[in-house]
Parts: sequence; structure tokens; C-alpha cells
Amino acid sequence: MKIGSLSGKTSFFGKYKTFLVVLIIAVLGITFEVIHLDFNNSRGVSQTQENKFDNLVNNVPSSPTPTPTPTPKPTPKPLTFAEMNSLYGPCIHLPVLMYHHIQGKDAATADKQTSLTVYTDYFTAQMQYLKNKNYNFVRMNDLTNFFDSGTSIPARSVLITFDDGYEDFYTDAYPILQRLGIPATMFVPTGLIDNPDYLTWSQISQMNGLILFANHTWSHANIELSGQKMKYEISTADTQLFNHSLNSPKVFAYPYGLTSSQAESYLSSLDYKAAFTTVSGNILCKGKRFDLPRIRIGNATLSSYGF
Ligand SMILES: [Zn+2]
Repeated sequence: MKIGSLSGKTSFFGKYKTFLVVLIIAVLGITFEVIHLDFNNSRGVSQTQENKFDNLVNNVPSSPTPTPTPTPKPTPKPLTFAEMNSLYGPCIHLPVLMYHHIQGKDAATADKQTSLTVYTDYFTAQMQYLKNKNYNFVRMNDLTNFFDSGTSIPARSVLITFDDGYEDFYTDAYPILQRLGIPATMFVPTGLIDNPDYLTWSQISQMNGLILFANHTWSHANIELSGQKMKYEISTADTQLFNHSLNSPKVFAYPYGLTSSQAESYLSSLDYKAAFTTVSGNILCKGKRFDLPRIRIGNATLSSYGF
């Protein structure tokens, strides 16, 4: 029985040996296939990650961009006309257009003056546009009279100003202003008059009348800091303009738009009536008459500025 059962077992194994071997091979095969697939899958993922990493490395900027911590900044809300009027009034809506060079594009490009230039054809179109839209061109004394006596200024008025006294004002801007009968103010650094590329006293006297020639310091200096220099710059130009019977009413424009309370009180002591910055805005208030905003005009249609 023992042998029989042994031989029985042996014969059972013998009987199914082939089947078992096939079964084991099949199981091993399936397992290998599963592992192989898995390995490929995981390798596929890791390759993608490697690609992503390579891309990151290749596109990484040379220095990291710091993410600024957002700090809550109060957005200064511009004062309404009514608020300005109660704080600094009386006020008036009066756009003061600010120009520097008026010249052709080629000349501006050659002299690297494009950023301060309105091309002559644009300027012509802008002035014609205001004329066609029936804007009222006020003179500087209309504004100073408003401040001093409350004289009214019609709605849809504009004031045209130029800075720096460049010669192209005589050749390119003035003929258009003259043809259309548009008054304007030119702020000149008096010490630069008669220099190359600047107006001459002779040209200025020809244009005086339609154009008010006003104070923009003697040497186009920053008068923000030094008290002595500030006084010298303002008073020298004031005297030179007075000697040529110019600058009446007395008005001033700050070089580089840089103001100071010292300069404001000095201008007031010399009987100046108004002073202009380069700060953008169109509400002009008596209480801010030495800190008046303007609108810098570029090579675009005036309708794009809201006119
Ligand atoms: Zn200037």
C-alpha cells in the first residue's frame, strides 16, 4: 500500500508533469509580461517627467524671478471736480495741451528727437481737428483772469503750450497756428535763445502777440533743490523776458516738471500768475495755480485723447 500509494503519487506527478511544466511556464510568462508592461509604463512616465525637467532646465531664466509678496496698496482715487473745487477752488475744466518739438519724421529721427516730437503733419491735423470741432482757443490771460477775477471761460476750451523754445516752432508750428488763428504759449529757457536749434530773439519778436513767450528758467535747470540756483534761474529769465517786453501775464513752466514749495513761493513773490507742471490732468484750480497739470500730446489723433 505504502509503495502503491508512493508509486501512485509518482505516477500522478508523472501523469501531469507536462501539464504542470506548461502551466508554470505560462504563469511565469504572464507575470513577466505584466512586469515588463508595468516597467515600460513607469519608464514612459519617467521619460515624460525627464522631458519636462529638460524643458524646464532649458527655459529657466538666468536669474530667478522673485515673486513679490503682495502688499495691499491703496489706489489713490483721483479727486472729482466737486472735491477739487471744494479743496482748491474755484476750478475749471481746461485741457492744457503740451508740445515740445514740431518737425518732420525724418528730421526727428535723424536728431533722435522722436520722443519729444509731434510730426508736423500730425500737429496740423490736430489743430485743424480742434478748429473743426469748434473748440475755443483761450489765451493765457483768460486763465489768469479766471483765477484773479472769476471771469468765465467757455466750455470746450483748450490752451495750447510749447516748451523749450526750439527753432522748429518758428518753421513748423507757428505757420499753422498763424493760418488757423490759434493763440499759444511758448515757455523758453531764455539763456538758450540764439543758440543753434533754438529760437532767436528776432524770431520771437515776429511771433509775439499770437504767441505768449513765457519763463522756463534761464538754462532749463532743475530748480527743485537749490534755493540760490532756483532764484537765479527764475529771476534771470524773468528779467530777460521783461527787457524784451514779453511774458505778460507772467507765467512759468517747471523744467522736467519738477516743482518745489520754495519755487512756488518765489514765483508768487515775483508776481507770477500761474505755473505749469508735466503732471497729467485737466482740472485747473486757483488754489493750485503754481502746480497746474497739462496733457502731453503725441503722434495720435486728438480724438484718442478724448477731444
Ligand atoms: Zn523743458
